Amino acid sequence: MSFESLGLNEPLLRAIRSEGYTTPTDIQRQAIPPVLEGRDMLGCAQTGTGKTAAFALPVLHRLLENKPTGPAPEQADDNTQKYAKRGRNGRPPRHHGPRKPIRALVLTPTRELAAQVLESFETYGRHTGLNATVVFGGVKQGPQTAALRRGVDVLVATPGRLLDLHNQGELDISRVEVFVLDEADRMLDMGFAPDIKRITAEIPSKRQTLFFSATMPKEIQKLADALLHHPVKVTIAAQNSAADTVKQGIYFVERPNKIALLQDLLSDPTMHKTLVFSRTKRGADRIAKRLNASGIPADSIHGDKSQAARTRALDRFKSGKTWVLVGSDVASRGLDVDDISHVINFDLPGDGETYVHRIGRTGRAGATGDAISFCDGEERALLRDIERTIGKNIDVLEHALATGQATKRSRASHPLAATAPTRGDNAGGGNGNSGGNGGGNRPKRNRNSGGHNGNGDGNGNGNGGGSGKPKTKAAARRRRAKRNRSRFAGQPGAGAGTGASAN
Ligand code: AMP
Repeated sequence: MSFESLGLNEPLLRAIRSEGYTTPTDIQRQAIPPVLEGRDMLGCAQTGTGKTAAFALPVLHRLLENKPTGPAPEQADDNTQKYAKRGRNGRPPRHHGPRKPIRALVLTPTRELAAQVLESFETYGRHTGLNATVVFGGVKQGPQTAALRRGVDVLVATPGRLLDLHNQGELDISRVEVFVLDEADRMLDMGFAPDIKRITAEIPSKRQTLFFSATMPKEIQKLADALLHHPVKVTIAAQNSAADTVKQGIYFVERPNKIALLQDLLSDPTMHKTLVFSRTKRGADRIAKRLNASGIPADSIHGDKSQAARTRALDRFKSGKTWVLVGSDVASRGLDVDDISHVINFDLPGDGETYVHRIGRTGRAGATGDAISFCDGEERALLRDIERTIGKNIDVLEHALATGQATKRSRASHPLAATAPTRGDNAGGGNGNSGGNGGGNRPKRNRNSGGHNGNGDGNGNGNGGGSGKPKTKAAARRRRAKRNRSRFAGQPGAGAGTGASAN
């Protein structure tokens, strides 16, 4: 099936082509036709399935095909009348300046997801003449209100800032035609239920509603029932779907050894874009600090950081300036970074679903990915939960720093390196790793042309290796550590010029 056959209009097809999408994903195949018809939708799907395009494309199509249909402010329906009467200080809210109506409203639980959804609307809508903007908290509201005053067709928002701006009379949602609730389960987890209620009371009751949630517990079903009108139901992949596409392994390692194990694993050049999860925010900061001290460029990202710091960390990671992003779970939701090579659970999450979400940050849209978890003595019960959720045992990996206490379990000898290209691979190249022990600085990682062209020549004669003098103390420390580790043949950092092979 092609995107053309789904009936999307040409400006959208052009954008899809330039994104390089050739076939719609499952959720796109199932969701796009009924949404184009104007049906409400209940989608049980998680990030990574192509969910954003599944709603953004038909929403843009409909906005483009239909003239604004919402009621003029003076003819607003019950909801908007109520709103007009209430206003701020009992007065009708003041809306600044003439502007076209907001026609589509997308609510997301986190700022990161909101920014990514906006990016998708901008990407897919770039030939449509429609525009979009985003509002979320944690940043100055001036630029957001300026964008709103200029007028937007599509508004992506987190609930709190949306209501703030609404209460200030800075935005008018009384003519919304399509309402999208993304990651509804996460919204409820984060305590947004009252905000969602307030917001839905302000938009027209006659509208199209698209409701997405990764899970469907009772309270989500109740919310869906309240918001949707005869919805089409689309369920994509079981909750453990990521477990099928992502290669998983676990190290049994005592807590004090976790950081050294992490540092060692990260010396493997195939780990060119690795997301590390820690249980606590302070833990994330600590891990990033330790990695930086050992010469591995890393940032942390979590809810205690300012929005500017979070955006900066994400940008640096996306552009390859840092190779490692250490985050908490809130940051993991909806984090859409292309080609994350590895996810490492430094600490196991509290439940199986979160585990699946975390590992789903790699292996996106059908790509393969690797997920490695560390499990200390106190985390065994968590591991059992996780394995129950995904319906299988995770392969136990061996390492000198790991205790390897799972004697009856299957064992894998190397951390999942088989599928990953190394920095020594070039387009036609062989398995050249950067040669030899402890090269001073690692070659720069490169996303282009396969993304992993390091300085190796494909024959194992990379220039990262050998006798180069380390430039910094940290590099010297790493070099020493690497030398010590080289006794673990086949482990990353063992040198010998063969490296991990790319299949
Ligand atoms: P999402 O589930 O919306 O977060 O999308 C996950 C990733 O899949 C994003 O990076 C999209 O750019 C990508 N994607 C979405 N649809 C397709 C498609 N039909 N073909 C290839 N990649 C896609």
